[in-house]
Amino acid sequence: LASRDFHPDNTIIKVKDVEIGGEQIVVMGGPCAVETPQQIDEIARLVKAAGGQILRGGAFKPRTGPYSFQGTGVEGLEMMAEAGKKHGLLTITEVMTPEYVDVCAEYADILQVGTRNMQNFDLLRKLGTTDRPVLLKRGFSATYDELLNAAEYILAGGNPNVMLCERGIRTFETYTRNTLDLTAIPVLQQLSHLPVIADPSHGTGRRELVETMSKASIAAGADGLIIEMHTDPDNSMTGDGVQSLFPDQFANLLVDLEKLANVL
Ligand code: PEP
Ligand code: MN
Repeated sequence: LASRDFHPDNTIIKVKDVEIGGEQIVVMGGPCAVETPQQIDEIARLVKAAGGQILRGGAFKPRTGPYSFQGTGVEGLEMMAEAGKKHGLLTITEVMTPEYVDVCAEYADILQVGTRNMQNFDLLRKLGTTDRPVLLKRGFSATYDELLNAAEYILAGGNPNVMLCERGIRTFETYTRNTLDLTAIPVLQQLSHLPVIADPSHGTGRRELVETMSKASIAAGADGLIIEMHTDPDNSMTGDGVQSLFPDQFANLLVDLEKLANVL
């Protein structure tokens, strides 16, 4: 079902007034984690003002260590839904377990599967039964084929609205947090009809590289981007402040992306 062989036309995912996989580049922006109502409200305002369409933010955070901040949970979902509604943005949030799919689907427009859960088959099966679109992140050690098979689980369950996300893979290089595999973008588009989104934030782990790799991703044909942005990145509650853009950087980037899209 994920293969282009049996589905030659691109899948366009329509969520309210936003089309993902169509002509327009879609930008999802926001913090790594939803922290407080004020934080997510202000960031939502800035995402909207910059021309972004979708507010990102994790309420359930997959942290490497069990003692790290684990997210604001259902309260975070509420805060984000409220901010999205107020500022006219769609919302995307990560769901980590099958039990939480229904509650996340109640609050968010799009559900995200994190890199660590790409092969959480029970989660994928459950996502096949919801009507919410799913952004499926590539596992940091997963091949293209494994990613497409993970997408297949969701599609086979009856949910046709899956987008693939390249978010960087683990390589021998340690300067960057991950290595954003730009080649994945055209390859996945060749093999599959599903929209492809790039995540230059987790793909690099360094704020100063996000702009360049965002542009490179669009030049490589990505249908959209998911980018971390924070009003006070140095004091963010996850370690991802170092890769989060400041609001003015985010806004400037979206202006440049618009110009880039016009020449492509
Ligand atoms: C995130 O989007 O904040 C996140 C945890 O991403 P990933 O699963 O790609 O690490
Ligand atoms: Mn993050």
